Amino acid sequence: MRFLIIGAGVAGTTAAEELRKRDKSADITLVSEEHHPLYSRVLLPHYLKGKIVRERVFLKKESWYTEQNIEWLTGITCKQLDPRNKFVGLSDGRELPYDKLLIATGGEVRAVDEDVRGVSYFRTLDDADHLVQLLSEQGPGSHAGIFGGGFIACEYLNIFSHFQIPTTLFHRGAHFWTRSLLPEAGALMENHLKNHQVELQANTSVTELKGEKELTSVVTTTGEHAVSLLGVGIGIQPDFSWMREAHVETGVGVKANAFLETNVPDVYTAGDIAEFFDPIIERQIQIGNWMNAMSQGRCVAKTMSGEKTEFRLVSSYATNAIGLEIIFVGDVEKAAADHVHLVGSIESGGVTQIFERQGRVVGGVMIGRNQDRKVVTDGIAQKVDFVSLRRQIP
Ligand SMILES: Cc1cc2nc3c(=O)[nH]c(=O)nc-3n(C[C@H](O)[C@H](O)[C@H](O)COP(=O)(O)OP(=O)(O)OC[C@H]3O[C@@H](n4cnc5c(N)ncnc54)[C@H](O)[C@@H]3O)c2cc1C
Repeated sequence: MRFLIIGAGVAGTTAAEELRKRDKSADITLVSEEHHPLYSRVLLPHYLKGKIVRERVFLKKESWYTEQNIEWLTGITCKQLDPRNKFVGLSDGRELPYDKLLIATGGEVRAVDEDVRGVSYFRTLDDADHLVQLLSEQGPGSHAGIFGGGFIACEYLNIFSHFQIPTTLFHRGAHFWTRSLLPEAGALMENHLKNHQVELQANTSVTELKGEKELTSVVTTTGEHAVSLLGVGIGIQPDFSWMREAHVETGVGVKANAFLETNVPDVYTAGDIAEFFDPIIERQIQIGNWMNAMSQGRCVAKTMSGEKTEFRLVSSYATNAIGLEIIFVGDVEKAAADHVHLVGSIESGGVTQIFERQGRVVGGVMIGRNQDRKVVTDGIAQKVDFVSLRRQIP
């Protein structure tokens, strides 16, 4: 059996590991655009803040791939898929045959149009190394900008706050995560950040970068702001071109059923790139968190090796914005919910949003209310209705 995995992040690597456990003699190949052995993206902010040394972000050693008899091709991208003849075309010109193919390509960061030294992205270890360098170049008069209002913007807030760099945050919506948060939750975050000296520019887009050799300012839809460093966190934008040419169905991600099988025979998907049917929340969804990617990698490997396994997990993303704790669990898209209930208040310093669809709880957002996490997670898994869940929240 020849297993071929495109993308060697946590989803792809976990799948390779599980496949090897299940099949000692199969050919397993991991195609990786990046050059590093598996590392934790979750640990990158800790490395940036100097809380851990760089070596600690790695989850695998280079020798692991040989020990596991996994062919690990680095610095190579998949460019083409021929599902009829069952091979992929790689950036080095090679064509690799497969019996079962896994697409675990995560997401490329969405970039701003221009590039000037001082602009930072935050997805990979190379991005983190670049940011370490940029941070070391900042002096007493430095001012940082952040463009974005999501999880990566929170990471930048924490990093710039850690280095005590005054910061202005520009985001296109009225508040953070406009697709998920109610105005009250947005206002709670806004108050908290303003109390921590972050200047916020809502409903604002960065339109131009200024600076000859290095960034000196950004022009936005509301004016020009002097910044020497800009952290961009405006979402991810996967490259679907080679998949679409092969008629793999895509939407916001690669579409798959609850077994992580795509519409093309013997082609599977897992991790951030997968837009799968979630049997717990009962809709097609894309979820971008570590636990989801790792668990999907393990699950899809079972199906690929013949033990057809449905993917069932209520996963979460927990972070903080300068000390304010934020947790997303399950399906947190307002547009997909019938009702979004609010518990707590701005005055009390914490709100929990509970997303209800067709009479049952499907998701939750907790801001400054970690204590609700377990009850909401269990409620989603057990498909309880809002009234029963509400009784359990003090
Ligand atoms: C800075 C940061 C902090 C985070 N913190 C948290 C956190 O605290 N908690 C949490 O739950 N989640 C967190 N996440 C999200 C989490 O890291 C991701 O959900 C997870 O890493 C996704 O894994 P993946 O394997 O699906 O995709 P990725 O990790 O993106 O891996 C996909 C790999 O495929 C490669 N690739 C893409 N296209 C091709 C191609 N055509 N050919 C070959 N290779 C290709 C990519 O270069 C990449 O190496 C964080 C993410 C970042 C960036």
